[in-house]
Amino acid sequence: MTAAPILVFENVVKRYGALTALAGVSLTLHRGEVVCLIGPSGSGKSTLLRCANALDPLDQGRISFDGHEVRSSEASVRLVRQRMGMVFQNFELFPHLTVLRNVTIGPTTVLKLGQAEADARARKLLAKVGLADKETSHPSALSGGQQQRVAIARALAMEPALMLFDEPTSALDPETIGEVLSVMKTLADEGMTMLVVTHEMDFARRVANRVAVFDKGRVIEEGTPQEIFTAPKVPRTRDFLSHLG
Ligand code: ADP
Ligand code: MG
Repeated sequence: MTAAPILVFENVVKRYGALTALAGVSLTLHRGEVVCLIGPSGSGKSTLLRCANALDPLDQGRISFDGHEVRSSEASVRLVRQRMGMVFQNFELFPHLTVLRNVTIGPTTVLKLGQAEADARARKLLAKVGLADKETSHPSALSGGQQQRVAIARALAMEPALMLFDEPTSALDPETIGEVLSVMKTLADEGMTMLVVTHEMDFARRVANRVAVFDKGRVIEEGTPQEIFTAPKVPRTRDFLSHLG
């Protein structure tokens, strides 16, 4: 069985002035797959996600999402905003809105859903992430883990074809990391396609179908968690893994 590719990076090059953040990255994500990106800080993982999300134009190469080329054109940005869910390290919730309104604002403004329908959808998702009782709270009243679960519900409310996560647990207190990873594991089990930048190697080992190792703007090694974590071929991968706490 080969599922259709949903997100394809072909030889993507991205520079910031003299600095080459991505030096020719090719990577394919198939429907229903969970791919984890690991690698040292500054190796280009966030840049790759920002390029996928049409937040940053490319210098070379091509990205296609669901058969459409991702560019920094308005049409492309609109498509990507609607169909790719993005979860960041720092949640980026709207502080002045309640939890419920944070989750409904995308569907009502972008998808033009009626308020009642958006509310019903949001309540279902808040229940799914274990926050049914928090809908009238404001983000500042929640723990980091709870805020991140709201951010996940907010992304899911757009019914995305793909979810991108950029170190979703890096800013969290240790005691709330597990609750976020467990929501992500549930999503993966339900068949959501996910591209996840993470330093949580246990999560990558248990949940990823494939792991891609970044170093200096390149994918230096790619394989199953088994291949990467138990028998890495590239010395740089071994080095990276051995230096993790
Ligand atoms: P990672 O997510 O793997 O830590 P990043 O993608 O954030 O790495 O960064 C890759 C490289 O690009 C780093 O050297 C970083 O300093 C640089 N970089 C990222 N964003 C910018 C930017 N907006 N302007 C200039 N340099 C940037
Ligand atoms: Mg990063």
